[in-house]
Amino acid sequence: MPTNLRVRAFVAVLVTAALGVLVVTTATTDLPPLDEWIWAALVFGLLFALAEYYPIPLLGRSGANAFTMTAVPGFALLLTTPLPVTVGLVGVAVCLAGRLSGRGRSTIRTAFNAALSSLAFGLGALILALVVDLPATEIGLETVAAVLAAGTVTLSLTAVLTAAVIALDQGAAFRRVLRDGVALNDLGTHFLLLSLAPMVVVIWNYDRGLVPVIVVVMIAVHRASREGIAARTFALNDPLTGLPNRRALDERVAQLLRRGDEQGCLSLLLVNLDRFGMINDKLGRPFGDRLLRLVGRRLDAMAHVDTVAHLGGDSFAVLVRRHDADGVRAVAVQLLEAVGEPYVLDGVPVQVDASVGVASAPADGSDAAALLLVADTQLTTAKRLGAAPHIHLSGGHASAAQPGRLSVLGEFEDALAGDQLRLDYQPQVDLGDGAVVGLEALLRWRHPQHGEIAPGVFVGALEHTDLMPTLTRFVIDRAVADLAALRRQGYVGTMSVNISARDLHNRRFADEVADVLARHGIPGDRLTVELTESTFVTDQERARHVMHELAELQVGRSLDDFGTGYSSLSALAGIPLTELKIDRAFIVGLQHGASGMSILQAILDLAERLELTSVAEGVESPGERQALQRLGCQVVQGYLIARPMGREAVPGWLAANDPARSATRTAG
Ligand code: C2E
Ligand code: MG
Ligand code: MG
Repeated sequence: MPTNLRVRAFVAVLVTAALGVLVVTTATTDLPPLDEWIWAALVFGLLFALAEYYPIPLLGRSGANAFTMTAVPGFALLLTTPLPVTVGLVGVAVCLAGRLSGRGRSTIRTAFNAALSSLAFGLGALILALVVDLPATEIGLETVAAVLAAGTVTLSLTAVLTAAVIALDQGAAFRRVLRDGVALNDLGTHFLLLSLAPMVVVIWNYDRGLVPVIVVVMIAVHRASREGIAARTFALNDPLTGLPNRRALDERVAQLLRRGDEQGCLSLLLVNLDRFGMINDKLGRPFGDRLLRLVGRRLDAMAHVDTVAHLGGDSFAVLVRRHDADGVRAVAVQLLEAVGEPYVLDGVPVQVDASVGVASAPADGSDAAALLLVADTQLTTAKRLGAAPHIHLSGGHASAAQPGRLSVLGEFEDALAGDQLRLDYQPQVDLGDGAVVGLEALLRWRHPQHGEIAPGVFVGALEHTDLMPTLTRFVIDRAVADLAALRRQGYVGTMSVNISARDLHNRRFADEVADVLARHGIPGDRLTVELTESTFVTDQERARHVMHELAELQVGRSLDDFGTGYSSLSALAGIPLTELKIDRAFIVGLQHGASGMSILQAILDLAERLELTSVAEGVESPGERQALQRLGCQVVQGYLIARPMGREAVPGWLAANDPARSATRTAG
């Protein structure tokens, strides 16, 4: 766990307190002769360490929760061994088990667990000592009652201190963490187990040779608990992804909504992958299954998420404990970004987009079924509004911070009218001579409330609306005007702009491009238009037509994100292109050794044969650049060269990084 200062301070206080208890009890206890307790200390101490070493994993979001049977040997120790020895032994056993188990436990976590056990059992001993004489030679009914009472205190202290440290670490509400912990850890079972401790001591006092019986009893209980928990996990988990299933989601929603003080503060985000059927068809079901597991893992690793359930197929439900429109939208945006990052499976890069429908309690319903129904209709709307990532919040949100349907669309009109949109530019460098041969214009939207919104999120949403041509006009106009200014300062390279499928249906597109170029006195071959591969697939006919028109203007035609659009190569034949932009996923794929390298080589060969300029995007390290150079790639773009920068920063960057200043690149 990432530890903050407050967590460290808290653990330091606990460790000091545990050491204090150890010192004070040692000083105030008259230790009985060694032979009266040393064997009990060793045997029960060892059993304690074993119980700590073999926890029973519990169903939980992080999978980090576990149930241990330490209460049994712990109380057997308390009944048979002097208090300071128990306190010390318990601490040492926890440290040892933590270290030896190699479960990647951090020092601070081990220190916390050790101090916590010492303190909790120390406090248990104080309660126990009020009722029975320790070490207990006679075990009677009152000993059992005392163990149960003392055990309750021990368990409560453990639950409270654990919740406190988690709340400090995650900045979460203490009461909420405590309640979750109590629900998850099944304190009832711990309580029942406690009564085994006096029984174990009875066996021990009767005949020490019966130690194997004690071990067998503990193994039997351990196995039974493990199987019980496994059965529950099986019933509530989806076998494919290991995530909670629909039934677990129902339970969790009911559990969260039962709580009065949460005020039904809960939203359900229904996430559905776009075009997943196509991936299954083209790459096979096993591939699709592995992809689903990766998507699930990414969702589950996200912050601010309470539960991620796999509902089957390509649908996931994500529970978020808030229902304010801004907050939920922010989570939805992060979620789409996380899912949309490329995946690499066997060196093959895949990219999937998703859509999200949102429903919130109490406005949209008060159980999982009702929320899912509303979220599903929102999802359908989201999918209908745009083929690419889109979020749709339910009408229940209309009364929240912002009025109306909180879709990206409404607000984007304001952005276009105001000054919330700008272009950043990212340089492209020739691998042959290091000259800067091009700049790519990348759109930025600084939203007054949500801050910077990634183009990947809103561009897709605009795809099927009339706003898209307006937006593209804005981008081309601005980019060409900036290019004209840069050319006056000596820049001779090209300017690339991204267009979308919707622009292909604008019959005047090529004319508009010609107008802009003429207005700024820019030769056609200095502008390159980038179209993503998936767009070519969906609109082959229109794409071919528009590309021919642009070719007549000498404007460059680039195939963006090549390799992620599932196009068959024959679909690309007959489309007059000048450039192939190799998606970042293939550069990432280089890490996968030979297979990644071969795929990249094949793409570069293809580009060469088709006489297309090869541009690799997303180049982040010198190693990647060298590999690309070796494989014969012509141009690179990526953070290694420069991050996209504001218009004002470009001349300075060019002066410092492009001494040649003489680069030219001709569109074919
Ligand atoms: P794209 O055209 O493939 O743009 C490249 C994306 O990769 C940009 O993301 C860029 O910031 C990012 N990038 C560049 N170098 C690196 C690198 O080294 N590592 C990593 N991890 N990323 C790198 P951005 O700006 O978020 O744009 C995302 C997509 O949004 C673009 O992908 C493009 O498809 C679309 N887009 C951007 N601007 C426009 C626009 O004006 N119109 C249209 N229709 N689409 C746009
Ligand atoms: Mg691009
Ligand atoms: Mg790209």
